[in-house]
Amino acid sequence: MRKKIVAGNWKMNGTQEEGQKLTSEIVNMVKDERISDVTVVLNPPFVHASNVKKLIGGVDNIFLGGQNCSDKASGAYTGETSASILASFGATYVIIGHSERREYFAESNEQLTEKVKLALENGLTPIFCCGEPLEIREAGTHEAYVKDQLTESLFGLSEEDFAKIVIAYEPIWAIGTGKTASSDQAQEMHAAIRAHLASKYGEKIAEGTSILYGGSCKPDNAPEIFSKPDVDGGLIGGASLKSRDFVDIIK
Ligand code: PGA
Repeated sequence: MRKKIVAGNWKMNGTQEEGQKLTSEIVNMVKDERISDVTVVLNPPFVHASNVKKLIGGVDNIFLGGQNCSDKASGAYTGETSASILASFGATYVIIGHSERREYFAESNEQLTEKVKLALENGLTPIFCCGEPLEIREAGTHEAYVKDQLTESLFGLSEEDFAKIVIAYEPIWAIGTGKTASSDQAQEMHAAIRAHLASKYGEKIAEGTSILYGGSCKPDNAPEIFSKPDVDGGLIGGASLKSRDFVDIIK
């Protein structure tokens, strides 16, 4: 059975107080509503790490993650945060290759390969993002585009390492736009991704890899999208900033 995962990507949102309130509310709802069969990951801005880690302390299925990590191990890289620093604060997941990082910070597939390696070396589970821009979707070449992203950044990994990766498919045209992929579009791409993973790593590893959908997921569209056989959860942006919405998506 694949892990069901719902990860909240706060992006650059939340003061200290807001972050604490949001985390406490999520923790309380997950406990009170006895949600134990979903892995929940909170990915706040780095400076929230200690606070969030403390607040999720006693809950087995809520984990701390980072939104990014450096492609360097340590050293004179002002403003960067390494995978090892993140791990030392108790994080166990890290989002790598989000389309906003690729676009606004010009992250290349080669850099993402380094980030994935460093994350794994430090015991972090990479949530590796892939997804096509609108013009690629309109040209009908989205499957090839996404497969190339995966091949270039991940297919150098050993089987043992690849088995630790979580994939998030996020069509860029659906992120923060209020426009989701239809559940059929999501299923089609997730199945294509899984087949691609199987072609390199075999059926067993492909069947065991959690593939999350991201892009304008909300409580009203999540049940339909998550009901698809190859969709194993979600990477949630905007709706992860509202505790009730986020927990409804988890449910
Ligand atoms: P969104 O963001 O849910 O606000 O569309 C998703 C993401 O960027 O991970």
